Amino acid sequence: MIVILRPDASEEQLQHLIKKTEALGLKAHVSRGVERTIIGFIGPEDVLRVTPLEVFPGVESVIPVLAPYKLVSREFKKEGSVIKLKENVSIGGQQIIVMAGPCSVENHTSLSAVAKQVKKAGATVLRGGAFKPRTSPYDFQGLGEEGLKYLKDVGDETGLATITEVMDPRNVELIGKYVDIYQIGARNMQNFSLLKELGMTNKPIMLKRGLSGTIKELLMSAEYILSKGNFNVILCERGIRTFETATRNTLDINAVAVVKQLTHLPMMIDPSHGTGYWNFVGAAAKAGVAAGCDGLMIEVHGNPEQALSDGAQSLLPEKFESLMSELRLVAQAVSRQI
Ligand code: PEP
Ligand code: MN
Repeated sequence: MIVILRPDASEEQLQHLIKKTEALGLKAHVSRGVERTIIGFIGPEDVLRVTPLEVFPGVESVIPVLAPYKLVSREFKKEGSVIKLKENVSIGGQQIIVMAGPCSVENHTSLSAVAKQVKKAGATVLRGGAFKPRTSPYDFQGLGEEGLKYLKDVGDETGLATITEVMDPRNVELIGKYVDIYQIGARNMQNFSLLKELGMTNKPIMLKRGLSGTIKELLMSAEYILSKGNFNVILCERGIRTFETATRNTLDINAVAVVKQLTHLPMMIDPSHGTGYWNFVGAAAKAGVAAGCDGLMIEVHGNPEQALSDGAQSLLPEKFESLMSELRLVAQAVSRQI
């Protein structure tokens, strides 16, 4: 249920409404927009149905939300959310944010070198996995806390914001000490314990679409996080599994337009996992920008042949730099900047 307050509604009227509805077991999420304050009420459907919220002073109208996702819906918040990632770095505005770096953090020297190169090319966020979700238990699993230390150190050294994947609710606190943004990987899109745990933090979270997750399921997973109080959620399309085998995954560009219509949350594209081959990454990245994405996540490695994970889809720093110049032109064509 969404309640729209009158423009002249007072803070007292708002607090009265929240207090009374809380007593009925409803949870109020307040969104203070430029023109109007909107409150999203979450709670048992039967209570919502029989509670006449129209009668409260200051209430202008009450709209039932038909979509199963409430807080993430455009009905709840008309304007797109702008999420602060670090001082002077936000996603969801005019600027398209580029997150780049190796698939895995491998050592301090190579991370520092690639970080400086991606920063010079225009990236503002450094990516790198320290806990890796590998298909085989015998493949490189990541450096763990040691990798987090390198990320923190290189982030401080370069001024880049940092992002890394969290796979286990038990590591949420540890990872939070070292990085600016949590990444929820495709394989964990529906790890509900993890979603709830991260919902109780206040750091930005990038939620990737699952390999076989529908857009609706992606939005429901985001709803888990918002319903726990953390509204700093960024969505990411990273390719889904289809019958096609020419590429590692099928990047669903449609998802950008659909998600931007259904939700106020920023939407990113990961053309690296979306294609699986470095020579297709540029085309997919440009398509993402043209379609209206708010950010890109791109794997870059100083020596892809020697990479401990995802070398085949990693761009050399020089290739990344020239791609960034092309992306700037595409961004300009759709009235955005990179
Ligand atoms: C990654 O970003 O390195 C990663 C493992 O991504 P995904 O969860 O999309 O496979
Ligand atoms: Mn990877």
